[in-house]
Amino acid sequence: MAPAYDPNNIFARILRGELPCHKIYEDDVALAFMDIMPRAEGHCLVIPREPARGLLDISPAALSQLIQRVQTLAKAAQKAFDCDGITLHQFNESAGGQVVFHLHFHILPRWDGVALRPPGTMGDPEKLKAQAEKIRAALEA
Ligand code: AMP
Repeated sequence: MAPAYDPNNIFARILRGELPCHKIYEDDVALAFMDIMPRAEGHCLVIPREPARGLLDISPAALSQLIQRVQTLAKAAQKAFDCDGITLHQFNESAGGQVVFHLHFHILPRWDGVALRPPGTMGDPEKLKAQAEKIRAALEA
């Protein structure tokens, strides 16, 4: 059985405004922001406000609202970066590749013939800021 939700995980702290992020979008259901170690240009994350470790413990109602935000953000990223495709990643528990234990969907813009970068390299903050603005502009267009 998975451990209990930890309210001090890094994304919970971002949700409470205790830690900064390159914010793209927020409403009463979700927050979207840039991944700090991007594996592709425009790599961003969508997280629910509801405290959930992952796919298995979020309420179905919150999940169905969240996935609509994921689609909206994926469309905006596609428009902002004119990419050829979008990859979604969503990991559950350490064995499933999860590192931060608050449910999140990765949105990864993809281009034909361009591989994902390996994980673990910090993005340039100025570039992340500009990319967040670009996706935000596409959302508003
Ligand atoms: P995973 O749980 O495997 O999906 O990995 C967590 C993801 O969160 C990684 O892609 C990290 O680069 C990203 N990440 C960790 N800390 C932050 C942060 N403070 N702001 C934005 N992204 C983060």
